[in-house]
Amino acid sequence: MPEGPEIRRAADRISKALIGKEIIESNFYYERIREKEEKVKNKNIKEITTKGKAMLIRFENDWSMYSHNQLYGRWTVNLNTTRVKSARALRVVLKTKKHAVRLWSATNIDLIPTSEEDEHPFLKKIGPDVLNESCSFELIEERLTSKNFHKKKASTLMLDQTFFAGLGNYLRSEILFDAKIHPDDRPFDLDKTKITQWANSIKNISHLAYKTGGFTVSKSLADKNKANGESKRSYRHAVFMRNKYECLDCKSRIERKWYGKRKLDYCPSCQIQRAKV
Ligand SMILES: [Zn+2]
Repeated sequence: MPEGPEIRRAADRISKALIGKEIIESNFYYERIREKEEKVKNKNIKEITTKGKAMLIRFENDWSMYSHNQLYGRWTVNLNTTRVKSARALRVVLKTKKHAVRLWSATNIDLIPTSEEDEHPFLKKIGPDVLNESCSFELIEERLTSKNFHKKKASTLMLDQTFFAGLGNYLRSEILFDAKIHPDDRPFDLDKTKITQWANSIKNISHLAYKTGGFTVSKSLADKNKANGESKRSYRHAVFMRNKYECLDCKSRIERKWYGKRKLDYCPSCQIQRAKV
């Protein structure tokens, strides 16, 4: 499931293929952007950036392509000579002499003037991007304890894109375990030390996932869990998809809670509830 770190890694891959290169062909097949295609057709690309789970491809004539992959959109990068077969619907193709970059299946795509990015309905609403360098520990603490957010449950906050952009389901479980916070506690229920720990985990775990391609534990821990017969969807995490396994810290059994249709895995012994219920 693509969360902030996965989108940023996709942006890195696409940037490598496109930035500083001549675009020799570009096609926009999605209905909504086809009518504005002339604005950016065969224009070179200046930069590619992400805001949470959204990607912005900025063309040199100050137009931008906004895309949000939700759960099903997918970027691919191939050599131009590679024949690509896919059952997915092709939305966008950007070609250089060497590479072909394609966006598949996504339904949330827009072409907008770069100067109007901030007014885009999605970008307007979202909070700071956790992976952005300007997102400091202090800023995270400040938001955790702010009036807008301090009485919301941890399980809610960790998916709320207006709080921070880029967090998703696996990061939610992993961050709360790393900070040892119960999913039903609110910032309001916690002392200063706990808030600081939470802020650190938000930033550190997101960065770790970005650097490693979705791993939220050290390589040695992942290797150990792998050697014990765990599959990749569980050995790369500490608690997420590890329900029924032992907690890596205390040997209690990892448990699963459901919030809406989304699962959250946690250790009931390490993540003790602090709110009086
Ligand atoms: Zn534990």
